[in-house]
Amino acid sequence: MSSDAATDLISQARRARVAVVGGGIAGLVAALQCAKVGISVTLFESSDRLGGIVASADLDDRMTDVAADGFRVAPGALAELIDELGLRGAVVPARDADTWVAGPHGVAPLPAASILGIPANPFDARARRIIGSRGAWRAYVDRLRPPLTIGAERNLGALVRTRMGSRVLERMVAPLTHGIHGVPPEQVDVDRAARGLNSALTRTGSLSGAVAQQLPDADADSRPSRATIAGGMSVFVAALAERLADLEADVRTGVDVDGIASAGDGWSLAWTAGDESGELEVDAVIVATSERPARRLLAPHLGGLDGAPLSPDDVDVVTLVLDAPSLDDRPRGHAVYAVPGEAAALAVVHATATWPHAAGDPHVVRVTLPASEDGDDDAIAAATAAARELLALEAPAVRAAHRARWPRSLPSSALSPARDELRRAARVHERLGVVGAWVDGTGLARVAADAKTEAERIRSGLLWHAGGEGAST
Ligand SMILES: Cc1cc2nc3c(=O)[nH]c(=O)nc-3n(C[C@H](O)[C@H](O)[C@H](O)COP(=O)(O)OP(=O)(O)OC[C@H]3O[C@@H](n4cnc5c(N)ncnc54)[C@H](O)[C@@H]3O)c2cc1C
Repeated sequence: MSSDAATDLISQARRARVAVVGGGIAGLVAALQCAKVGISVTLFESSDRLGGIVASADLDDRMTDVAADGFRVAPGALAELIDELGLRGAVVPARDADTWVAGPHGVAPLPAASILGIPANPFDARARRIIGSRGAWRAYVDRLRPPLTIGAERNLGALVRTRMGSRVLERMVAPLTHGIHGVPPEQVDVDRAARGLNSALTRTGSLSGAVAQQLPDADADSRPSRATIAGGMSVFVAALAERLADLEADVRTGVDVDGIASAGDGWSLAWTAGDESGELEVDAVIVATSERPARRLLAPHLGGLDGAPLSPDDVDVVTLVLDAPSLDDRPRGHAVYAVPGEAAALAVVHATATWPHAAGDPHVVRVTLPASEDGDDDAIAAATAAARELLALEAPAVRAAHRARWPRSLPSSALSPARDELRRAARVHERLGVVGAWVDGTGLARVAADAKTEAERIRSGLLWHAGGEGAST
């Protein structure tokens, strides 16, 4: 690129104005990608804080994560961002801990040798405790089945049911897909959720054999799969906000965007903040909210938005700070997921079993419940009862509690032709971007990666194609 072209590009960036609607991780990452090259960015966040589902509260004098509390460790946009924000030294790996399931069998740990809850050995003592001898024999029959139809089934529910039977499906696999993502196994794409499992099935001739072959080699790969940031994930949000401030992005919290209308080549945003309201004209908009507000804002401009909502139902998450010495030994691993319909809670996560925890400190437990209209006191009482039942606690003293409602989104591994279609439609408009878990798939690593890519698309549209003014080399 000639120096003239570079100068053109810089002045093009300075003239360009982008609005980002939503200050969760997707919005913050998208805003950063634009602000980095000098684009003038205004970010609107309707609540009074940034971070969206990455949220913390002061509980018993400690800032405590009350929703997302960690991330998947993998190379990619999130890892690069953590480095860029100078937080690499603050990354804290998760401790190894079992995952448990609660159901008709009681509460029992999943075998360590399992993928998505599918056991490598149905006769493993842990698997037998969950599915009983009958379930184990049924699952074993898979090894004797002809390999004719092997390797083609993408529906996780159908695959597990036909190969290993309904007990493995309902007691070992469904609690995880429901408890973690709010979807049945039938809505999970095997090829996306466990890449390589289907081909391993073709090679080995059985699903349990495939799981055994696909398990990470304990010696070769001892990296933890999850990590957090020392001090909690809100430290990451604060660092992102600080970087945006350094880049002179205009970040406005407590401001709701009510509508987006096209205005010439760009857009006009209508916003309200308490009694105040106003409009802002920009060249491009990136919508980074959850599904409900995004549909409302995008409906006039994108096709394919009249179908049913994509996202699973909202959940209530109750975070409890407990005096419960019996939890010191992490008796139920890092989490217990319930067989659907078998417990009031969808999941009970023992956060202080997952993250390093000072001896003598109180324990933090997060209980996920179906969203209800009950008041906070009732929700906290229901969560405490669920924690007692699923973590086998006597009578824990609750030092502090916090309840909040959160929107959930489909995992990226979901089988959802409607979402795939919507995603394609949303990637077409040169000056309108759509990011966030509801279109890209849930999880901080996924959301950050896709928000970065989408913001880069919008940003290059502005820099290179703006009325033919952008640099052309
Ligand atoms: C309970 C729970 C726990 C989770 N735990 C983990 C975890 O440990 N690790 C992990 O990787 N993933 C986790 N996830 C998933 C992950 O947190 C989400 O996928 C991710 O945070 C979504 O980010 P987002 O920016 O797309 O959406 P959000 O975080 O929902 O952000 C959207 C933002 O838009 C704002 N907004 C909405 N409407 C408007 C409007 N009209 N104008 C202005 N602003 C608006 C909202 O206030 C919100 O701040 C969890 C999810 C849930 C529900």
